[in-house]
Amino acid sequence: MYSDRALVIGAGFAGLLAARVLAESYGDVVLVEREVIGPGFRADLPQAHLLSAPVMGVVEALFPRLGLEWEDAGAVRADLGSDLLVRLPGGWAPREHIGVEVLAASRGAVELGIRRRLGRLANVSVVDGVVVDGLLHDRGTVTGVRGWRGDRPFTDYADLVVDASGRDGKLVSWLAEFGVRCPAPVIVNGRVAVASRLYEVNRDLGLDWKIACEVTRAPLARRGAVVSSVDGLRWLVTLVGADGDVPPVDEDGFLDFATSLRCQEVAEIIKTAAPVSEIRGASNLRSRSNRFHQVTDWPRGLLALGNSAVSLNPVRGHALTLAAVNCADLRALGREHDLAQEPPVFHRAVARAARIPWQATTSADLGWQSKKLPARTRVARWYADRLVRAVPESRRVHRASVRVAQMLDHPVRLLRPGVLVTALTRGRSDQA
Ligand SMILES: Cc1cc2nc3c(=O)[nH]c(=O)nc-3n(C[C@H](O)[C@H](O)[C@H](O)COP(=O)(O)OP(=O)(O)OC[C@H]3O[C@@H](n4cnc5c(N)ncnc54)[C@H](O)[C@@H]3O)c2cc1C
Repeated sequence: MYSDRALVIGAGFAGLLAARVLAESYGDVVLVEREVIGPGFRADLPQAHLLSAPVMGVVEALFPRLGLEWEDAGAVRADLGSDLLVRLPGGWAPREHIGVEVLAASRGAVELGIRRRLGRLANVSVVDGVVVDGLLHDRGTVTGVRGWRGDRPFTDYADLVVDASGRDGKLVSWLAEFGVRCPAPVIVNGRVAVASRLYEVNRDLGLDWKIACEVTRAPLARRGAVVSSVDGLRWLVTLVGADGDVPPVDEDGFLDFATSLRCQEVAEIIKTAAPVSEIRGASNLRSRSNRFHQVTDWPRGLLALGNSAVSLNPVRGHALTLAAVNCADLRALGREHDLAQEPPVFHRAVARAARIPWQATTSADLGWQSKKLPARTRVARWYADRLVRAVPESRRVHRASVRVAQMLDHPVRLLRPGVLVTALTRGRSDQA
């Protein structure tokens, strides 16, 4: 048995940041990852991370100047007004500088930057190629993990195990093995699917934006897309389908889907730019809250964060922010509490942090469900529709919406008189 040791399951964004936080208070931190992290790990995986200001605040507090290192490696800084082309169901969003930035990079580049910085910490190690398939426990306390490294059994012990194994994590069934029952998860499913591919930037197209997106919105706009400039010389093209409209992953189908969009630049890129990855699809991107804060007999020595605790439909862009806030809470609460002994303190913070991003993400997806929604949700959706329709005509509504979407401002800001009146007067009809 070891003491003063923490073990994190999963070396995604949440697990990597959590390892850095735990390195401040544990003598030994081990990060266990099922994939083999060789050279170029996830470099051609067609997924991007758009790092918002709140995310960068957490990251830079843990890894000073990491943003600059990412930029040196090709991450693209974009103003969400002037550098962003947005097609909404009611028209195009205004193109003006609004002073709210994101840093766009491929998932591979983001994780590589964090792993390099973790590599400088003497008390953090990564064990890759290990599939965890259960927890070790002793009288109400988790004492480690078990699993497989290739065809060899793997066990490791720790005072604290943090599960950051992502949206497909198996923590609920691992807990059930020793009699801990979790409540049924809350699931909202807009039957959203994506298909993504990386391309070399084709400068001949002369595009004047860094990120472009066409937004899906129930009940009419089932198809959308996001194109991000990442890693300096690449575009990540993600086609988005809602309500069961799955973007194809074959060459012809991928282009046909893009051609059906209003934002024709997406199809132009697919037709003229050289692909540098396969087309990768993901479907059933639902949001799921595991409500771990409600488990009364949760074991000591175990925490869950990131997508393992609350996974959000990634298309809405709040998943990384939530993972970052979880790690900031882990750090702040860990200074006041022994979280290995008091997991509920942390899981209540996870539930609190998820409230606004959960509502923002799921209220959009609920529009695709046929069942009648509660009156409060219907009113919120009605007002959100007014806002979306007002954006093409109003810089004020646009700016306020971007700040709330980036979690820089509380959603109550969208009810301020200037925004409210504009939304109610100009947001009444769909424009072409
Ligand atoms: C298709 C798709 C597209 C996305 N696009 C975006 C996007 O454009 N922008 C954005 O901000 N976010 C996006 N996301 C979400 C984003 O990837 C995650 O929110 C983010 O990576 C943080 O999640 P996480 O660290 O909690 O989990 P993950 O990133 O999923 O990391 C979990 C890690 O745990 C490992 N693991 C899982 N099970 C085990 C096990 N049993 N044993 C050991 N290791 C294990 C996995 O290999 C993985 O490395 C997307 C997600 C998906 C699925």
